[in-house]
Amino acid sequence: MFKNTGCLSSIEYSSLMPDEDRLNEGPVAIIECPEHIPCNPCQQACPRGAIQPFQKITDLPVIQFDLCNGCGNCISVCPGLAIYVIEKNYTPDTSLMKIPYEMLPIPEKNDICDILSREGSVIGRGRVERVQKYAFNPKGRVVWVEIPKKLYKEARNVRMVKE
Ligand code: SF4
Ligand code: SF4
Repeated sequence: MFKNTGCLSSIEYSSLMPDEDRLNEGPVAIIECPEHIPCNPCQQACPRGAIQPFQKITDLPVIQFDLCNGCGNCISVCPGLAIYVIEKNYTPDTSLMKIPYEMLPIPEKNDICDILSREGSVIGRGRVERVQKYAFNPKGRVVWVEIPKKLYKEARNVRMVKE
């Protein structure tokens, strides 16, 4: 489906997610990078060796979920905005999503946002919890967004809402 639509299907993205046991353990990165492009900064940026060494520059990144702590370092170096972090059990009712965000204006804590699916449909509302600067790109931010827990698999992006 990705080659036709530019979006991963539910079968495709489910295959890239850790199992429920790992999702229940704590924050973890999910890498949705299905194209064999010559690129590897995510692997080099991981301080825990959770992204396996590449044999070729065009290898797809493979993450060992048991080594990942969801720090988000890899998010800020990915030129394809292909990586995000999910903390499924942020609170009893909510999950936390850390996503790359390069739009203006820069969001602020407690801003309200629409939660978007991979296809760009609005599937709910979220709240900005924190905004981190990118380490290497002053224009980008990693935005932490609290979302309803029922959306932790479908949520993939956000759009800030003026209220
Ligand atoms: S979130 Fe942190 S630990 Fe996990 S893969 Fe990315 S850089 Fe490595
Ligand atoms: S940095 Fe991003 S685009 Fe490059 S290989 Fe890693 S996930 Fe894919």
